[in-house]
Amino acid sequence: MNEEKGITYDFASVESKWISEWEKSGIYKAKIDPIKPKFYCLDTWPYPSAEGVHFGYVKSFCGMDVVARYKRMSGFNVLYPMGWDTLGLPAENYAIKIKRHPKEVTDESIKNFKKQFNAFGLGYDWDREINTADPSYYKWTQWLFLVMFKNGLAYRKKAVVNWCPKDKTVLAEEQIIDGVCERCGEKTEQKELLQWFFKITDYADRLYEDCSQLNWDEKYLNLHRNWIGKDVKEGKTTFHIRDWSIARQRYWGPPIPIIYCESCGTVPVPEEQLPVVLPTDIDFTPTGESPLMKDESFVNTTCPTCGGSAKREVDILDTLVSSAWYEFRFPDPRNSERFVSKEAIEYWRNVDHYQGTIEHLTAHLVYARFVTKVLFDQGYLPFDEPFPKYTPVGMLVDKSGTKFSKRLGNAPDTNELIQNNGGDLLRLSGYFVSPFDDISRWGVEDIVGVEKFRNRLWRVFKEKVDGDRYDMPEEIVRQTHRLVRDVEQSIEKMRYNVAISKMMVFVSTLLNHEGEVDKELWETFTKVLAPFAPFIAEEMWSQMGHQKSVHVEHWPKYDRALVEQGIISIAVQINGKVRDVLEVETRSTKDEVIALVKENAKIWKQVSEATDCIFVEDKIINFVTSSR
Ligand SMILES: [Zn+2]
Ligand SMILES: [Zn+2]
Repeated sequence: MNEEKGITYDFASVESKWISEWEKSGIYKAKIDPIKPKFYCLDTWPYPSAEGVHFGYVKSFCGMDVVARYKRMSGFNVLYPMGWDTLGLPAENYAIKIKRHPKEVTDESIKNFKKQFNAFGLGYDWDREINTADPSYYKWTQWLFLVMFKNGLAYRKKAVVNWCPKDKTVLAEEQIIDGVCERCGEKTEQKELLQWFFKITDYADRLYEDCSQLNWDEKYLNLHRNWIGKDVKEGKTTFHIRDWSIARQRYWGPPIPIIYCESCGTVPVPEEQLPVVLPTDIDFTPTGESPLMKDESFVNTTCPTCGGSAKREVDILDTLVSSAWYEFRFPDPRNSERFVSKEAIEYWRNVDHYQGTIEHLTAHLVYARFVTKVLFDQGYLPFDEPFPKYTPVGMLVDKSGTKFSKRLGNAPDTNELIQNNGGDLLRLSGYFVSPFDDISRWGVEDIVGVEKFRNRLWRVFKEKVDGDRYDMPEEIVRQTHRLVRDVEQSIEKMRYNVAISKMMVFVSTLLNHEGEVDKELWETFTKVLAPFAPFIAEEMWSQMGHQKSVHVEHWPKYDRALVEQGIISIAVQINGKVRDVLEVETRSTKDEVIALVKENAKIWKQVSEATDCIFVEDKIINFVTSSR
């Protein structure tokens, strides 16, 4: 046996233990607490496909978990929920393909997703889980339609629409990419049909102007703004955005709550009759006509106004309608009287930090902002912007830069990865490969580096932390304070790769330190590690004798004066020109400074092939490159 005998870290049993402990203790459950400031963070929810969580999105989900844990430790009352965007074409098409009901299929997928999310250590408040296919949820999607209808913002007209001949359904602009259907790749056609629309053009001006209130990165905000599009021509303002086509002639969605009566015309279903339940026993093979049309017990009804016989609308609402308001359901997910209570929405308000992909900037976010403004205007919400802060995250792709896909055979098996490595290592490797909003080229070999780090920190814990207090060298104490500051800043800027490399350096220092490690110093490190690797941090915390979870502890405070002591600025030059300024410890060696230069990927790209490097201690580092 090797020297690590007895100190091997058994991730599998540790992780499964904490998954069930956290569920039992309910540490992630959010409750209204007027004394504490709230922090509501949210990831765009997934469509639960049969394949399980796509590994490309793992970085995104785990990334928001870091924010949630850090904010909780920093004294915020954190709302961090998750749910399922179950309805829509992908689920319906898949169900047709395998000849099963979409509800059955998606229910199974949800179970699988939930298991995988738990395995990644994502600290969601599962008491707030919602699902667009649940009648208690889509009741309020239908209610939203009625709000639009009653305020003249939902209308039906004959219109030329985009049609997918293969899926036999209408598509919205953003569901078409370069003239083909984004779902099936078929070339789309134009067709004239009687269609339902939301009058988003009435709000185009506000959607455009209010972008100035949003705390989004300018380049992403521009993408969003340009999609709404404004043209100030011959004194007349026009917008690029068109009215939102919301009806689909398919099955798997909420029925549009409208009744047609020969004497009264188009009549909205009374609110107290919601939800209009989607029949489950129905042949939904696409024919081009709405499948609900074939169900006579659904179609034939009585007119709510005159009591005469009438017919129901047979089109359903598109999935983008279901997800345009979901962030308001999490604060009060079981309310059957309102979509959200006044009390809950006044406390939790809008989402403080929302995260998704770049694609969401051009459809989902425009619709969600529109719906919020309508609900605000009608007095249902105390604010008119849902997502003051939005950060798009880069996907994980393979080493050649290709998106992971089942079709290409390059997609890693998420379950297998979990089984072989555990959640902590997958999280760490995903964060470590690149800055957060960059597309990250990832391969299983990236696990090796973080595994080494994990094993080293476990070794320090087992060999050098005996639970007693020790006087540590001044330099190590200073480094600990700096670590807290650096990790804090890295989380705020979502530069998790920097945070992890700082932690790696710190663990090396302790491993090289002769003698024991002070208990409180190690506790500080454990707290700083906790948002990134929640399982091993919890395990160490518990083994150190703590009864309460590390995830409800207070984030450590650093001593500013100590952090700045012995630090000087050093100029990084390329061919004599200053390109960066680094904060380094006095008397840092050339190698130590080069290691810091590497953290700035942009600079490092230019200097990694340098022909010469001139170093003057405490003053400059100058790289000489041949391409002068
Ligand atoms: Zn299609
Ligand atoms: Zn009538």
